[in-house]
Amino acid sequence: MWAALAAVGRDPDTGGYRRGGWTPTEREATHWFLDQCATRNLTVESDGIGNLVAWWGPSDAAGVVTGSHLDSVIDGGAFDGPLGVVSALAAVDLLRAEGFEPSVPIGVGAFVEEEGSRFGMPCLGSRVAAGVLPASRALALKDRSGVSLAAALETAGTDPAGVGPSPLLERMGTFVELHVEQGRGLTAPVGVASSIWPHGRYRFTFGGEANHAGTTLMEDRHDPMLTYAMTALAANKQARLAGARATFGRLSVEPNGTNAVPSQVTAWLDARAADDATLESLLAAITKQATERAERDGTTLEVVPESVSPVVDFPAGLRDRLVDVLDGAPVLPTGAGHDAGVFSAAGIPTAMLFVRNPTGISHSPAEYAEMDDCLAGVDALAAVLKDLAK
Ligand SMILES: [Zn+2]
Repeated sequence: MWAALAAVGRDPDTGGYRRGGWTPTEREATHWFLDQCATRNLTVESDGIGNLVAWWGPSDAAGVVTGSHLDSVIDGGAFDGPLGVVSALAAVDLLRAEGFEPSVPIGVGAFVEEEGSRFGMPCLGSRVAAGVLPASRALALKDRSGVSLAAALETAGTDPAGVGPSPLLERMGTFVELHVEQGRGLTAPVGVASSIWPHGRYRFTFGGEANHAGTTLMEDRHDPMLTYAMTALAANKQARLAGARATFGRLSVEPNGTNAVPSQVTAWLDARAADDATLESLLAAITKQATERAERDGTTLEVVPESVSPVVDFPAGLRDRLVDVLDGAPVLPTGAGHDAGVFSAAGIPTAMLFVRNPTGISHSPAEYAEMDDCLAGVDALAAVLKDLAK
C-alpha cells in the first residue's frame, strides 16, 4: 500500500507532496483508497463534502472509526495523514487474519482537506461534518486562484447542496486516529495523545503607500514591509517568552515589485500555545507591538482571525484504556491540529496514537518514520480496535 501511494502527488523537483483538497492528485489518492476498500469488501459511506468511512462489521450500528486524511500541505511529507489511513487498512487486515470478529462495526475514514492547504481552513471536512463550520461559510471559501469550494465540488462532480452536518458522525461511537508524531517528543515507537494545543490562524494586513524605491527619501516612506518585518520578529520573541509557537509562513505583497515601496503586505500568523489563555495573551502581545510599530511607520494594521481552535483534552478514561492495552505507552500532548480534535470537541469519545518521528520534521519532504515503527503502529492500532470492538 505504501509503495502504491508513494508516487501520488509527489512533486519530482521538491520531493514533497502536493495534494490540496479536490485537486487531481488528491482525487487520485482518494480513488486509491476506494480501490483498497473495494478489495477488502468494505462498505463505503460518503457525506456531502466527501468525507469517507469504509465499514467492516456485523451491522449498521455505531462503531469504532479510525483513519486520517490523504491531503497534504504544499510540499508536505509522505506520512502526515496517509500513515493513519494505510495503518487503519493494515490493522483491519491483521484482525481479519487473526480471525477476529468485531461485535460492533469498525470504520476506516478518510477526511477531506484536513490541512487546509487549498482553502485556508484546517480540518475543513471534519469541521463541516461536525456542524461547527456552517455550509454557507465553507462553500464561500476561495483558493489562491479565486476558485470557491462550491465550484471545486462541482468540478469534482459533487453537488454543493449536500454539504452540511454529516450523518457519518452518528455512527462514530468512538474515533481513534493514528498519526505520525510531528515533533521530537516521542522516544518510544508508539505513544498516546493527551491533548492538542489551541491553534489560531490570523490574517495581518499592513497598509502603506506605494512609492518609487529610488526617489522616495527614507524618512518620507510609509512602508508596510517594515511594520511586517518587525512584527515577524516580535512574534518569534513573544512565542519564545511564552513557551508557545508563532510562525509567519505565508506572505503576499502588493504590488510585489523590486523597485517599489509596497502599498500593502498581507501576512498570515499561525500561533499555538499550551492553553487558551496563553494563546490569547500571545496574540495580544504580538498585536500590541505591531500596532506601536505601525504608528511609527505611518502604516495601518488590521488583524482578522481566520480560524481559532480551543485546546482539546482527550477524555482521560479512553486515553488510559489505550495506555493499558499498549502496556504503558507514553502519553504526550501535540502542537499539531487534527480531525481527531474536531471530533473530540463535538463530543465523540476520541483518542490518538502517535508513531515516532526520529527527526521531528513534519510538513516537509524530509518528514520520516522508520518502517519498524510504522509496523509497531499497525500492531498498536489493531490491539486498540480489538479492545474497543470486542
Ligand atoms: Zn495530519
